Amino acid sequence: MQFSASVPIDSASLNVAVLGSTGSIGSSTLDVIRGSNGRLVPFLLAAHRSTTALLAQAQACRPRWIVVVDPAAAGEIDRAALPAGTQLAIGPEALDELVKSPEIDRVVAAIVGAAGLRSTWAALEAGKTVALANKETLVMAGPLVMRLAEQTGGKIVPVDSEHSAIHQALRAGSASEVSRIVLTASGGPFRLRPIETLVSVTSAEALQHPTWSMGPKITIDSATMMNKSLELIEARWLFDVPAEKLGVLVHPQSIVHSMVEFIDGSVMAQLSPPDMRLPIQYALGYPQRIAGPARRFDFSKNTSLEFEPPDPRRFPALRLGYEAAARGGTSGCVLNAANEEAVRGFLAGELRFTDIVEVCARVLSEHPFQADPSLDDIRRIDAWARQEVVSWACV
Ligand code: NAD
Ligand code: MG
Repeated sequence: MQFSASVPIDSASLNVAVLGSTGSIGSSTLDVIRGSNGRLVPFLLAAHRSTTALLAQAQACRPRWIVVVDPAAAGEIDRAALPAGTQLAIGPEALDELVKSPEIDRVVAAIVGAAGLRSTWAALEAGKTVALANKETLVMAGPLVMRLAEQTGGKIVPVDSEHSAIHQALRAGSASEVSRIVLTASGGPFRLRPIETLVSVTSAEALQHPTWSMGPKITIDSATMMNKSLELIEARWLFDVPAEKLGVLVHPQSIVHSMVEFIDGSVMAQLSPPDMRLPIQYALGYPQRIAGPARRFDFSKNTSLEFEPPDPRRFPALRLGYEAAARGGTSGCVLNAANEEAVRGFLAGELRFTDIVEVCARVLSEHPFQADPSLDDIRRIDAWARQEVVSWACV
């Protein structure tokens, strides 16, 4: 992948499709669009079933299209409440089709979970530039997705703050000069909690993240550190680096978003306050940098930045991420699907906090591994892994 930008400065406006517009990343994206002085124009907003929020967004920014992916929820929409010039489309197929519209210049993939794969895939099929927040796409099907982008000329610019930091740091050297990539992790809400009490963590406790405000699924993933595992796999495919060159450091302040060490020992890191508007803005503007509303970092007020290696006893999820990043094939998909189902079970009160990683480890180790799965294989093994978690929870 080539990171250095040699593209001429362009000030034309860009039409943006925001998939998952009512979520945490989606609403930060609309903030970035609002703060872009007309450089970014909302063209399409899509959500699952939060129709009230979607309609309010449509009223505020008047996109050409809104898409409600869940047909049952779309039935609640009063078409008379749509602003003039905004059309409504319904269902996942409609989204896959619309995301390919020639008028769309940038697609923000901010749907949560495996559900985000199909629309990201559709956008890449059409050769779009995708600002990718939906890490699950690469975790599930990294090699297939990267190959598709290469074939169609589609581009993936990461939104995940760690990968955005790495993407920026990699611009300082060539791929052969990279010796190591270190992803930082806040450590989540339980970094200091006695390990033996983790079994009784409640969902309310796990949903309190110390530095980031995010959707519920990724917030739980941050508490177990499964999020970092998914990010290791994401980095493995996005940057084409082997798992043994990837490291993780706990950094409670969430200011250094990740770093790249080069063969001469130089380390390039990217620093900014924990505010997702910056990586979103970077991905939408790339290869240019554009001004925007993200908060600025003040060294004089933040004099202490701490780093420590993650404790494997506290964060057993990390081992699973390394394993899936090293093994490839169906491992990422299985880990992701098992985790999604386990997080759902935990939030529904069916599983204990520590069960999440335990059941993921079990499903990962027992799954019928395939080294080079097709998209259909991925869909099948995803369904299998979810079912395994449900059966495990029922025992
Ligand atoms: P969220 O739960 O706040 O929002 C999810 C959005 O996806 C909503 O708009 C929802 O309507 C939509 N959605 C859910 N299921 C859908 C479906 N089946 N079809 C279509 N749309 C659907 O989630 P979030 O925190 O904004 O995270 C979105 C993605 O970004 C996740 O993949 C997450 O890992 C990633 N990410 C988030 C953050 C963050 O700060 N929130 C940081 C890095 C990466
Ligand atoms: Mg991240």
